[in-house]
Amino acid sequence: MKVLVINCGSSSLKFTLFDMADKSVLCKGLVERIGMDGTKLTYQAKGQKIEEPLNISAHNEALAPICAKMTDATVGVIKDLSEIKAIGHRVLHGGMEFTQPIKVDEAVKAGIRKCFPLGPLHNPANLGGIEACEENFPGIPNVAVFDTAFHMTMGPEAYLYAIPQEYYKKHGVRKYGFHGTSHKYVYGRVCEFLGLDASKARVISCHLGNGSSLCAVKGGKVVDTTMGLTPLAGLVMGTRSGDIDAAVVTFLQQQENMTPAQVDTLLNKKSGFLGVSGKSSDMRDICSLRAAGDKDATIAYDMFLHRLVHYIGGYYLLLGGVDAILFTGGIGENSYETRADIVAALAPLGVKLDAEANKSRGQEVVISTADSAFKAVVMPTNEELMIAMETARIVEG
Ligand code: AMP
Repeated sequence: MKVLVINCGSSSLKFTLFDMADKSVLCKGLVERIGMDGTKLTYQAKGQKIEEPLNISAHNEALAPICAKMTDATVGVIKDLSEIKAIGHRVLHGGMEFTQPIKVDEAVKAGIRKCFPLGPLHNPANLGGIEACEENFPGIPNVAVFDTAFHMTMGPEAYLYAIPQEYYKKHGVRKYGFHGTSHKYVYGRVCEFLGLDASKARVISCHLGNGSSLCAVKGGKVVDTTMGLTPLAGLVMGTRSGDIDAAVVTFLQQQENMTPAQVDTLLNKKSGFLGVSGKSSDMRDICSLRAAGDKDATIAYDMFLHRLVHYIGGYYLLLGGVDAILFTGGIGENSYETRADIVAALAPLGVKLDAEANKSRGQEVVISTADSAFKAVVMPTNEELMIAMETARIVEG
């Protein structure tokens, strides 16, 4: 079965075509700068990478050139579009409505629309991608895979905020959590890789990238996660503050005369590594600045580590011990320096770094010593493949 995965952002559309027989990628690429000058298609297949300017102005026009490439006589990977049996879509926010991936119909589209206030930047674009596919691939089922769904197994002690419950009941103000597709994928993979029983395993999944979140999973159910109503909560990130005293918001509004939108931009786009270092949101830059003695980059790094270790300690207790802690995402998969610092900080829990194994990058590997109390593991994530797997599962019934 061939499954197309679509990840539609406000000005971009990413696609990957999988052959589910062996889970291989047949082709992938993206259309970027949609609705702006310089719209461009990048298409990769058969060891080739093609970049072409596109003369389009909307997402629904982006699919025709992609289809033309996929069926092209030289760089194409399918003869006919009817070979695609299903399309999986990444949808950011499923609210309380969606606890599982689901086949799209009118009611599902209305549900995604209902979640617009919760994901104002992403959900409209995600729905746009679904509607574009309905238009361009008539008769092929679309499946919505929500970033929040995996976390819907959390209990109220973890997901409620300690404010009057009327806001939870009226607007769904609660913790949702994000990166759910990634956390679910790496949980499943780490159980297979280490031979753990997935119905019992206790795992702390550290998805560390531009956006970062931790997820405590027990027996495939989420016990807690660091992101909240939106992806702003939790760890110190590339440009997001993570956890903050909510009073900072009203304080800034009053003292700096800032509007809600300005505070939102400050906390989401100008904070985190970027805000504290004053120089970069990128971990590679933070590491090199720190190595060169930059004080602000050093404090940004130390804050990241401090909060991460604080959460891991808490999750260790909530899970009643752990079988594995895994690292994924751009930082988790590549930054051996960060992994070494985290594992060193976890020494009181009885884990030690295998420095040689930790040198590896971007592959599944145990990086703790054999005599450690639990395993520390690098586990590359693959959200597109997870979306394709969920999509195939749903359409095969
Ligand atoms: P992602 O959002 O998952 O693509 O991750 C992006 C983050 O991964 C950025 O902060 C990058 O600096 C970081 N990253 C990627 N490669 C490396 C590396 N080799 N060393 C340190 N950080 C890295």
